[in-house]
Amino acid sequence: MHQNNVVAEVKNLKVYYDMGDRTIRAVDGIDFTIREGDCFAIVGESGSGKSTLGLSLIRLCPGKVSGEIIVDGVDLMKLSDEEIRKFRCSKISIIFQEPSSALNPVMKIGEQLMEVFTVHGYSKSEAYERSVKLLKTVGIPEAEKRMQSYPHQLSGGMKQRVIIAMAIALNPRLVIADEPTSALDVTIQAQILNLLKNLTKSYGLSTILITHDMGVAAEICNRIGIMYAGKMVEVGELESIFSNPMHPYTRALMTCIPRGLKGLLKPLPGHVPDLSNPPEGCRFHPRCPYAKDVCKKEEPKPLHLDDRLVLCHRVGEI
Ligand code: ADP
Ligand code: MG
Repeated sequence: MHQNNVVAEVKNLKVYYDMGDRTIRAVDGIDFTIREGDCFAIVGESGSGKSTLGLSLIRLCPGKVSGEIIVDGVDLMKLSDEEIRKFRCSKISIIFQEPSSALNPVMKIGEQLMEVFTVHGYSKSEAYERSVKLLKTVGIPEAEKRMQSYPHQLSGGMKQRVIIAMAIALNPRLVIADEPTSALDVTIQAQILNLLKNLTKSYGLSTILITHDMGVAAEICNRIGIMYAGKMVEVGELESIFSNPMHPYTRALMTCIPRGLKGLLKPLPGHVPDLSNPPEGCRFHPRCPYAKDVCKKEEPKPLHLDDRLVLCHRVGEI
């Protein structure tokens, strides 16, 4: 893969929350690379550190962050607050789960969208034109009329479309979407995922999709990173992971995928450990049917097999 195709590189990322009496190690030494046009899913159960990872990538995380976050050749960790503000939206943006909380309830949709442009130097008339065009791009009917609507006049799905419009307005290199469809109805979910997939293609964006649902990841992503207890335990191409999951946690997550549209995600037995005091050795060992002595004592080292990365002592044996 040519260097030019690399949009983002994350190296040894750690995010700790200092709670006084204890330290929560929510992200504990993570590496991955995003290439142009990638839709990279980060999948793991609730409490794995996914949101912490997403927020830290755009420098919005309140925790103590260390490591390198290189986007478009720039290490975001080295930028000043002023520089990172400019970088947000123009190079990297984020979409959250709850569209209502991301919109200002007393401002019209159009004003909020136009602001993204005017803050970055566009004239009002240009901002208006681009905003209308964007609303059409994200599939909002009667875009001109909708510019005058307040958030509460839109459905959840439509609000999320507006948020997506704001996130892609300035043609960023990387869009992070943190559970963007978890608050929506199942049918709307599919539409929003499709929209993200199409935009990734047509805009040449790269996307990081954070989800607890392997089914959602399979829907639109080409690469997957499986996260467990602050670690990335397996990374690879979607098809290869689905046809041959190597980490026991990946396998376990795959058994949770609901069958059919209305199916519910089955919870896995056991729970994600307390990240201020994770188990020794492999963090998954207490829940792993394949664990043996070494798994309880030694932390597994990352193993690279072709395009795959796996963090498991027992790869090749199971
Ligand atoms: P996920 O998105 O995978 O559910 P999170 O990143 O939200 O995981 O949480 C990972 C761990 O970090 C959890 O133990 C959570 O309680 C903790 N955590 C998340 N945000 C904060 C915060 N602002 N302050 C302290 N602890 C936090
Ligand atoms: Mg989360």
